[in-house]
Amino acid sequence: MVFLARSPGGRARSCDSGVGPPGHSFWNTGSASPSIFGYSCLGILLPSPGMNYCPNCGTPEPDWLIPPGDNRPRFYCQSCDTIHYTNPNVVAGCLPVWEDKVLLCRRAIEPGYGLWNIPCGYLENGESVAEGARREVWEEAAAKVDLDYLITLYNLEKFNQLYLQFIGTLVNGDFGVGEESLECRLFTEAEIPWKEIAFTSSVFTLNRFFESRKTGKKVLHRASYPVV
Ligand SMILES: [Zn+2]
Repeated sequence: MVFLARSPGGRARSCDSGVGPPGHSFWNTGSASPSIFGYSCLGILLPSPGMNYCPNCGTPEPDWLIPPGDNRPRFYCQSCDTIHYTNPNVVAGCLPVWEDKVLLCRRAIEPGYGLWNIPCGYLENGESVAEGARREVWEEAAAKVDLDYLITLYNLEKFNQLYLQFIGTLVNGDFGVGEESLECRLFTEAEIPWKEIAFTSSVFTLNRFFESRKTGKKVLHRASYPVV
């Protein structure tokens, strides 16, 4: 089927997607009318949260709609016929352990500038979670770790993040201060500055580690923000 695509901005383009305005979307059950939002090649347009340009071809203002067969809105560029999916970010980290102490880093960057944290950061493309965790320890604490086990899987659904944190042994007990840190320091459990920990994900991992050290059980713990 061929029909003319319309958008709130008045753009008009000939489409031949074989798809007409959808009637099946849970967002489109009568509240969104074509006179308000218009149509795209893939379906009815919704009020867009805003994407200035298609990252693929540079066309301004990709459509925001629920593609056929999907159940939530996506950015869709008519010019290059691309649906742009955005998904949660994975944060990989490791709590380095040396004898009866753990290594924390005081952040030199926002958010949480000046607060203590477990070395962690966004996973890079082409990198395994374990590689990302080791890299973050190196970048934040100039230290190498032998990964022992994955201790926490921590969901932050509201922030579109998933934390995966390991326990690792600090190689030779050596560490420095990475570019993203003001200071790095080993703490016993009694010395942990609980009120100055940057993120709940770190509090959760520290709590589970000190518990597991007492029980000897090296198991994965799962939770969602704001559980600590
Ligand atoms: Zn495009």
